[in-house]
Amino acid sequence: MIKVEHLSKSFGTLEVIKDISFSVLQGEVLAIIGPSGSGKSTLLRSVTHLETVTGGSVTVSGKVMVRDGIYADAATLRSICLKVGLVFQNFNLFPHFSVLRNITEAQIHVLKRSVFEAEKRSMVLLEKMGLADKAHAYPFELSGGQQQRVSIARALALDPEVLFFDEPTSALDPELTGEILKVIRELAAEKMTMVIVTHEMSFARDVADRVIFMDSGVIIEEGDAESLIRNPRNERTKAFLKRFS
Ligand code: ADP
Ligand code: MG
Repeated sequence: MIKVEHLSKSFGTLEVIKDISFSVLQGEVLAIIGPSGSGKSTLLRSVTHLETVTGGSVTVSGKVMVRDGIYADAATLRSICLKVGLVFQNFNLFPHFSVLRNITEAQIHVLKRSVFEAEKRSMVLLEKMGLADKAHAYPFELSGGQQQRVSIARALALDPEVLFFDEPTSALDPELTGEILKVIRELAAEKMTMVIVTHEMSFARDVADRVIFMDSGVIIEEGDAESLIRNPRNERTKAFLKRFS
């Protein structure tokens, strides 16, 4: 589903991503862990075309987004962007739109669905998120956990082939993280392909198939979730994971 080869990304002279390669199979869940500032968000943003990479190749769902630093044409890039969904740390809902309109907006304007069809799809997803009664509420009337569930519904409404999460629970009070992790667990059980940047180590161990540990813009260690988190081999991975035990 995703293939990243020799990816690099600099901001001016600051090299943030250094020769990173990995792939994600269809139906697989990949967790990315690592200290703050190690380049996790930049990596997600590069793979989802929110940042322009400096070099390397990215293929999404069989379509080449960038090869050796040269980007595909605009039509190809658009079609790739339609296949990926993104959920951010801070929800990024439109504050002046109702919950329902937050979810219908892109369905109508990007996918050209009718209002009726978009609302129908939105209500199915809100039902699934346990938020059907909040369709006409505004984001400020919701808890952080509810807002994050709306943003997951919004991403799912566009029928993505892969979902990216950037620290989806980091902005939440601890008692609200569980409801988001539960939704992601359910998506994993449905075999949704996902890439999740997270600091929730026990969640990563349970839900992810594989884990990548990043530090200073490079992949230090990669392995199946259970063994990497329980028995890291690299000293830097060990030191990082110690903070969570
Ligand atoms: P993480 O998500 O692992 O905390 P980031 O990808 O956000 O790490 O950041 C990695 C490095 O890139 C940091 O040193 C950060 O300051 C820098 N960085 C991120 N975005 C930008 C930007 N738009 N311009 C300049 N530097 C940036
Ligand atoms: Mg980040």
